[in-house]
Amino acid sequence: MSAENGAGDGEAQFNLELSQDQKDIREWVHGFAEGVVRPAAHEWDEREETPWPVIQEAAKIGLYGFEGLAQFWMDPTGLTMPIVNEELFWGDAGIGMSIMGTTLAVAAIYSSGTPEQLAEWVPQCYGGADDPKVGAFCSSEPDAGSDVSAIRTTARYDEAKDEWVLNGQKAWATNGGIAAVHVIIASVDRELGARGHAAFVIPPGTKGLEQGAKVKKHGLRASHTADVHLDDCRVPGSCLLGGKEKLDERLARAREGESSRGQAAMKTFEVSRPTVGSQAVGIARAAYEYSLDYAKQREQFGRPIVENQAIGFALADMKLEIDAARLLVWRAAWMGRTGKDFDNAEGSMSKLKAGEVAVWATERAIQILGGNGYTREYPVERMHRDAKIYTIFEGTSEIQRLVISRAISGARVR
Ligand SMILES: Cc1cc2nc3c(=O)[nH]c(=O)nc-3n(C[C@H](O)[C@H](O)[C@H](O)COP(=O)(O)OP(=O)(O)OC[C@H]3O[C@@H](n4cnc5c(N)ncnc54)[C@H](O)[C@@H]3O)c2cc1C
Repeated sequence: MSAENGAGDGEAQFNLELSQDQKDIREWVHGFAEGVVRPAAHEWDEREETPWPVIQEAAKIGLYGFEGLAQFWMDPTGLTMPIVNEELFWGDAGIGMSIMGTTLAVAAIYSSGTPEQLAEWVPQCYGGADDPKVGAFCSSEPDAGSDVSAIRTTARYDEAKDEWVLNGQKAWATNGGIAAVHVIIASVDRELGARGHAAFVIPPGTKGLEQGAKVKKHGLRASHTADVHLDDCRVPGSCLLGGKEKLDERLARAREGESSRGQAAMKTFEVSRPTVGSQAVGIARAAYEYSLDYAKQREQFGRPIVENQAIGFALADMKLEIDAARLLVWRAAWMGRTGKDFDNAEGSMSKLKAGEVAVWATERAIQILGGNGYTREYPVERMHRDAKIYTIFEGTSEIQRLVISRAISGARVR
């Protein structure tokens, strides 16, 4: 819009057209998802193992790795990360999580670490194309899921050796125990609750960190999830993300009763929620597209089932809800990248909507496929199992509603 018809340049900025770069990256990831990920999806879901060969393929083309991530992050609109995730998880969510799970650890290092720590640890999370590695982010514990403030894992500073000593048990860690680099959220001062938390990098091969039980799951089965035990696990002082001086300052402020916006775990979640939402959008879109094709081909009563309003309207609602979810995801990703405040918890909104749409849309897809939808011969059953995690991890739907209701009302909604 030109200034001549009354709008200045600033007013003409709103635009939903993707840039050529964004379109190229979307096409590139889609090609990988279609050609490599999707054909492998059923096998790795059945095997319930980390698909290392697929991770390696992703590393070879630069989709998995430090450089790829940096390229996705560089986009000043923030949209490339959700676009990449949507395409990859459209291919398959279990494999997608094996490829993207590392991002959680990287996001923690990014949000809490110094530039030097970023440069040292992020490449080690990924390894090289010949020998790819994964990273793990460990916040949850058996008694601290939604209630992050209940974390019992402790980190004690041994001043004489300039080392931190970590003890505790982490639960549900994606890539837990098989990761090269683990980021652990631990309490340095229990009395301060979540404000007494700090994030630590545990370097590869550190003694005292062991994998516990591997979890057998409903969905996302190609992604490894396990407990992690920390038993007098010693790391150099430099492994405290952000450094000791900053931590001491933050603790002093917290002890004086000042509210803190720098809680390590919460900060990580804020950065990653729209990305997680875009993964759910990818699953939902995959189920929608599959069931649309099926409905056009499957005939009953002498006509394709899509010609029945019951099916046609279901597909219309699926498309509508998926597009709405994507718009919320893109808004939150853009807000995060351009430094806007999440005054109405827009990050939580995007993840909440996308997760619930994915569960609902994949269930609709099963219905549209009828008996076939209920079998493992067709992918929508797997997509439905995979989708369910999106109302649970990175903050359950109830917790997202809690965050949003508090943000919009200022009330202490419980
Ligand atoms: C496959 C998988 C991968 C995961 N990966 C990771 C990972 O990499 N790193 C990590 O740290 N964690 C990870 N998690 C853990 C995940 O983040 C937690 O499962 C999640 O935060 C919920 O915690 P919880 O399971 O203890 O459930 P709870 O907190 O026990 O919640 C149980 C139910 O109570 C509800 N509830 C709780 N409190 C309230 C409240 N105040 N108001 C209303 N309802 C409430 C919840 O919404 C939920 O419905 C993973 C989990 C899974 C299953």
